[in-house]
Amino acid sequence: MDRLKSKIRDIPDFPKPGIIFKDITPLIKDPATLRLTVHQLLQPFLCRDITAVAGMEARGFIFGSLVAWELGLPFVPLRKPGKLPYDVQTVSYDLEYGSATLEAHTDAFNSDDRVLLIDDLLATGGTAKASCELVEKLGATVAACAFVVELDFLQGRSLLSNYEVHSLVHF
Ligand code: 5GP
Repeated sequence: MDRLKSKIRDIPDFPKPGIIFKDITPLIKDPATLRLTVHQLLQPFLCRDITAVAGMEARGFIFGSLVAWELGLPFVPLRKPGKLPYDVQTVSYDLEYGSATLEAHTDAFNSDDRVLLIDDLLATGGTAKASCELVEKLGATVAACAFVVELDFLQGRSLLSNYEVHSLVHF
């Protein structure tokens, strides 16, 4: 995991003063580390009855679609509002300042789907919790959530106490 950590850089004061942003672009720029990351992400789910993978816009698309590809499963994008062309189901959630919305197509899942949710990073947990709610609103079941990075000090995991949560590296 030190190899993964060495490819995640701190960007101070982004997107606003006082925030230290964890930038994963050096990790995805390095093919061997990206491959290692994807294989570590999917490892707990190799012998599980996962039927679909969903990723949160935007960095969840990168890791989620690679995990789906490796597992031979469908990939479902959970998108910011106004991006999806077909009928959508919507979930809104609170941010520190204001709110955010995620959407998915109403036919994204089957009712017997067991969904693995993937994002690059778990911070406060708001995005992941809303994503779980969106999957459930669409009639499917959340099998687990998996992240490349977890910011332990923000305790996002506590918002996800009803779900199985995996993270590769912790700060
Ligand atoms: P949360 O909703 O858990 O507070 O924030 C997690 C979401 O915001 C994820 O979709 C993640 O991509 C993004 N995010 C928040 N902080 C960071 C960060 O420091 N680095 C990266 N790469 N993403 C972040």
